[in-house]
Order: sequence, then C-alpha cells, then structure tokens
Amino acid sequence: MHPLLFKPIYRRYIWGGRRFASVLGRSLPPGEDFAESWELVDRTDDQSIVSVGPLAGTTLGQLVTDFGDALLGKHAPRKSFPLLFKFLDARHDLSVQVHPDDARAATLPNPDRGKTEAWYVIDAAPASRLYAGLLSNAELLQRALPIGNKKEIFSAAVRAGRCEEMLHSFEARTGDCIFIPAGTVHAIGSGLLVAEIQQSSDVTYRLHDWNRLGSDGRLRPLHIEAGLSAVTNTDPVDPVAASATVDPALKRLVTNDYFLFDEVCPSAYWNIGGDNAFHFLAVLAGTVTLEEHWELPALTAGACVLLPASIGRQVLHAVTTNGLAPKLLHVSLP
Ligand SMILES: [Zn+2]
Repeated sequence: MHPLLFKPIYRRYIWGGRRFASVLGRSLPPGEDFAESWELVDRTDDQSIVSVGPLAGTTLGQLVTDFGDALLGKHAPRKSFPLLFKFLDARHDLSVQVHPDDARAATLPNPDRGKTEAWYVIDAAPASRLYAGLLSNAELLQRALPIGNKKEIFSAAVRAGRCEEMLHSFEARTGDCIFIPAGTVHAIGSGLLVAEIQQSSDVTYRLHDWNRLGSDGRLRPLHIEAGLSAVTNTDPVDPVAASATVDPALKRLVTNDYFLFDEVCPSAYWNIGGDNAFHFLAVLAGTVTLEEHWELPALTAGACVLLPASIGRQVLHAVTTNGLAPKLLHVSLP
C-alpha cells in the first residue's frame, strides 16, 4: 500500500457556498451551493476513490476488502471503513437535527451505525453560531422557561414549533472543536466552514428547519417523533478544551469509543504512524510533503491523506505557506 489521496465527493445543497474554492483552494465548477466535500467515505453508494499512485481508481470499500490488515492494522477486520470525514460550508443555517446511537440505529429497518460526530471550525464569519445540546437549568430560569424533566419540556416545545427557544448556542470561533455524542440535538449555523469527523452513518432526524422553504418552495419534512425518541443527551455542549500530549506538535481534541481527533501544528519535520493503525490527515494551513519515494504531490490547505497501517512510521515535512504556519487535523481509531 501507499499513502492514499482520494477524489473529493461534492454535495450541493441550498445552504452551501464557495469556500471550498476560496478557503480550501479547490477548483470548483460554477455554482454558489457547494455544501459538503466528502473526503473519506465507504458506504454502499458513496465511495472515496484513490486519485493518484498505483492504487488509483480503487474505492475505499475495495481497499478494506482487499487490504484489510494492511490498511487497518490492529483494527482489522472491519466490514467497511468505520469513519466518514467531510468539510461543510454553511453559507446558511443547517437544520436542527439529532442522530441515534448505535443501539437505536441497529434496530432500524435499514440497520446502520449510530452517529457520534465532532466538528472543527476552519473559518467563521463574525457572529456565526453553533447550536449544541439544550439550555442548562440556569439558562432556562434566566429566560423564564420551565424547568423539570428537560426532555419532556423540550419535546413539548418541538411539537409546538418552538424548538429554537431551548437550544444551547454560542458564537463559534476559528479553531473551536465541538464534540457531539449521538443523541445530542445540534445545528451548524450560517457563516461556518467546518471539518467533521463522524461514525460512518446516514441516519439523521430533522427536528426543526427554521421555518424556511426548500429549493422546491416547500418546507422540508421533519422527523419529530423519531428524532425526539433519539435524544439521549439534554446537557448544553460547549467547545472542548484541547489537551497536550507527549507529542509537542499534537493536541488531543476528542477521544471516545469511535475516533481520536487531534490538531497538529508541526514545526518542519513530524513523525506519525508505526503503531499498526491507520492515520488520516487533513491539511488546514501550510504545505506538507510526504516521503519522497512515494512520488506524491505536496499537500496544501484542503488536501487530505490516509496513511495505511502497513506503511509504518512516516516523516512528514511541513512548511509555512502564504504566511500561515502548518496546521493539520489528525484522525485515528482509539
Ligand atoms: Zn449531525
């Protein structure tokens, strides 16, 4: 195996924008609605495809089947790649949604994984907001809202079309990371460019859509009862506090049963791998060069690479570009 670069898969929705081009340096066709760029996905119909090197043209799913041990190392075997990584450009607010956990998702007519996710804010227009969890009792009192069984009160508010008033939110800043366990109500607000790591799952319940009309001039469907029954966390959620690690370049943002999520600020050379696990990197700033013998292009902002477990310890070279010091996101399995 070799370090794997994949072709992005773009999703165009009314809430999208142009920042994959203006911030992440992509060349995009015309259109103001580039909403998601899927960088790493292995689901039946959605497959990342290797873009360069001897494995070019191979899907991620095929790699998991043919090279399971080499790709996943100590985490093999898996039926499919367990994580999905994407960029989201929210020019407008996304709907308020909630995802089920593993236990609930497994009982659906089309059983799936649950969806625990985390976001990293890459770019934030002034006054952009993230919505995560429900107001604390102190906040509810402050706003003269009822307190008591929060899930029951929230359910009544959602059914009455007043979902918004109980959502916890905050002004998001570049560099914020937010961890959203399955069962937490959430929405990405307008103005944010976000990187998202999540369990590879496709079960989303929309609880509220800000009363706006879709591209066809109609309200998009809501999934109120299924969504409310999936709510298992009613606490407010705020940005995580990153913690230092033994690697001075790497700060741990999130660790949970499904993924590790880190911010990496390397100076010149940085070592990664050699622990019989895969490592996924997304470059946010600077230029990162892989070891020369791989003969792969240098990676600049917006580029992602999956390092298979079998290639062992790698030495990456990172340099400042356009006045911005190198910064990457790193994802692996716990
Ligand atoms: Zn979500």
